[in-house]
Amino acid sequence: AVQPTSESDTGREPSRTGLDAHNVHRGVLEHVRYSRGKNPENATPHDQFMALALAVRDRLADRWVRTARTYYEQDVKRAYYLSAEYLLGRALGNNLINIGMYEAAEKAMREVGVDLGTLVEMEPDAGLGNGGLGRLAACFLDSLATLGYPGMGYGIRYEFGIFTQDIIDGYQVERADEWLKFGNPWEIVRPEKAVPVRFYGRVEHHQGPDGKSQARWVGAKTVIGVPYDTPIAGYGNKTVNTLRLWQARASEEFDLKLFNAGDYERSVVEKNDSEVISKVLYPNDAFQAGKELRLKQQYFFVACSIADIVRRYLKTHSDFRDFPKKVAIQLNDTHPAIAVAELMRVLVDEKRLPWDEAAAITQATFGYTNHTLLAEAMEKWPASLFERLLPRHLEIIYEINQRFLRQVQIRYPFDTERIRRMSLVEEGPEKKIRMAHLAVVGSHSINGVAELHTNLLRRDVLPEFAEMYPERFNNKTNGVTPRRWLLWSNPRLAQLITRRIGDGWVTDLDKLRELESAANDAAFRAAFAQVKQQNKQDLSRYLQELCGVDLNPRAIFDVQIKRLHEYKRQLLDALHIVSLWMKARRDPSTIIAPRVFLFGAKAAPGYVQAKLIIRLINGIAEVVNSDAGTTGLQVLFIPNYRVSLAERIIPAADVSEQISTAGWEASGTGNMKFMLNGALTLGTLDGANVEIRQAVGDDNFFLFGLTADEVIARKRAGYRPRDEYEKNQDLREALDLIASGFFSPEDKHLFKPLIDGLLEEDRYLVLADFAAYAARQQDVARAYKDTERWTRMAIHNVAQAGIFSSDRTIKQYAEEIWRVQRIPVGP
Ligand code: PLP
Repeated sequence: AVQPTSESDTGREPSRTGLDAHNVHRGVLEHVRYSRGKNPENATPHDQFMALALAVRDRLADRWVRTARTYYEQDVKRAYYLSAEYLLGRALGNNLINIGMYEAAEKAMREVGVDLGTLVEMEPDAGLGNGGLGRLAACFLDSLATLGYPGMGYGIRYEFGIFTQDIIDGYQVERADEWLKFGNPWEIVRPEKAVPVRFYGRVEHHQGPDGKSQARWVGAKTVIGVPYDTPIAGYGNKTVNTLRLWQARASEEFDLKLFNAGDYERSVVEKNDSEVISKVLYPNDAFQAGKELRLKQQYFFVACSIADIVRRYLKTHSDFRDFPKKVAIQLNDTHPAIAVAELMRVLVDEKRLPWDEAAAITQATFGYTNHTLLAEAMEKWPASLFERLLPRHLEIIYEINQRFLRQVQIRYPFDTERIRRMSLVEEGPEKKIRMAHLAVVGSHSINGVAELHTNLLRRDVLPEFAEMYPERFNNKTNGVTPRRWLLWSNPRLAQLITRRIGDGWVTDLDKLRELESAANDAAFRAAFAQVKQQNKQDLSRYLQELCGVDLNPRAIFDVQIKRLHEYKRQLLDALHIVSLWMKARRDPSTIIAPRVFLFGAKAAPGYVQAKLIIRLINGIAEVVNSDAGTTGLQVLFIPNYRVSLAERIIPAADVSEQISTAGWEASGTGNMKFMLNGALTLGTLDGANVEIRQAVGDDNFFLFGLTADEVIARKRAGYRPRDEYEKNQDLREALDLIASGFFSPEDKHLFKPLIDGLLEEDRYLVLADFAAYAARQQDVARAYKDTERWTRMAIHNVAQAGIFSSDRTIKQYAEEIWRVQRIPVGP
């Protein structure tokens, strides 16, 4: 058969493929009629959004099919990213930009009297993640496609993503995120590729037909995983990769048995039990909840994905010894770590490979990315839960452990303590499986996500593993995609940069270095400052509509947006605001420059202290905003922080608050987005802040606070937060004012748990870093007064942001861990 070779040669109507305004217009009209079933004059803005999104998807379809065929024909090695979270945000604008039809779409819609921006706003965020870890996965998908790597994401199609946050009387109130309520135009369901997944039951050991012992997992309950595919378009090329998300469906055979037995009700209940697996994203960030349903979610999407990967491999191969030559699988944290046991089960039990061969294949296939040093985030599952839910996997984990510990014993004879520490099984009142150890033992590569984090991982978290397998440990500093986080979200700055240095930076972010000389050009500096000013005015207008607050766009926009967590120290920011305000009330001349403090943060619904911090910030905002006219200070907690809000806030930021206790933030990626958009960082030597400061130099970064080693030393020496309180009058006044109930007139003792926590333990050394933070904030204000100097610093930050492109990160994963090649999709 004659294969079409180009988009113009697909035999399709140009209304389906043409990227110019005329054809986009036709495509939208057709979808209004044939997909929405409406006359154009009756189409609602939502119909128009859906029609445009479907028209865009049409234009991705040929490239999508051709990308898949190219990978098969060339029998390429593929990289599979397994992640329980994808914080994608909206897709319409990004897709239009990536395939180069934004202007055409804008024109086409304008001709029918529709504002493209309004349609973009109709799209709900795909919020299938909590924060940095999930957003990283989304940036990685964009970079994989843009660089032309054969990469595919696997995850869960949560019916409800991260909750919607309302602020009511200063408190966070959660609402279900019904992102699929009006349909999702991007995804394509593929029921023909559904996969059965088993849970529960027991294991029987028989002698197999080959005379060898054979494990059989019997009496299990089956759930069906149905894949939904979303196209991931590269920027400026023809690659369209796939994100495959699994939805849980009850299995028919199971339903039918009960149904036929006359137990209709129970069959419906059991159906719910199955389908609840993909119902909701767990709203915890950097914390393990330890719920059975969570482990079910993890195994569910891992089993589906491994089955899918093996099926694809077997289409063109039969010998599993070549599996690692064609398949690389990256585990995004330990959430998918059960994949190690699952691949072993498939190879040993189903494909009948000898154990050692299966183990070598498994290890050559997997890489594991660690995302946290927090003890409370380390996943450990009770062995009893495993035994009930995944009996065969527990056996396999025990077998892996036994063989592994034998190796440890041979390397380090008579060191029983070491064996206890390295075991995959934590002994104690309740036996637990350590998922990080399973991931480490089952992988050929273990990476941290910033230099400091990787060093601490080697030194403090997995020291014995790093000693035994030094060659497996490596660093891959996180990155962010410049397409979404500059080209799309900050069009003014993107255009200014492109006018100066051309548009090569979009796919080669190191080119931003060419801006270095522009910092000496007064006209460029003025244009740069004007872009920031316009972005601040845009944000102020938006926030006036959203929150009814009039912000002063001439003030410093000082921003802390990220998950609410004690280690991220929103409390430090809040304490400083209180202190600043008290001084300003006594003497307004203490305020060097007017300032707008912006916060955005979701707290895990069960995290009581975090929710109280939100209430405190809102209490402070109410007081401070009431006399902004005299102090020049304003505070706003922006509700429902999410990707689409980050896209509005970051371009308007002057100061990026990255103030976590040193040694706690693995990397941070928000910090990189701010830098890329010309905000200056006020930060500790934590996570990737260290590398940001290295890149821009100390003169262009506001550093403060204890180092990671100093934090440990302070604690070891017996840290007494009360001493800080006694020592520092500003700090004492601020804490006393909060403790007095000034910010919570309805309940004077409301914030007592926060104050007690700070004075008695202060686990995150807020008080120890307060003086240094406050002093540095004064430096920030003074620097801002010198507009020319500030602008130079900001331009310098943008110019040095190149290394924080996720393109750089993905190239490193591809070359150093996955060994996959870039495959151009023609023509
Ligand atoms: N949440 C959202 C919506 C984000 O866009 C980002 C990154 O920009 C994060 C969380 C992570 O922020 P941080 O690195 O500051 O923790």
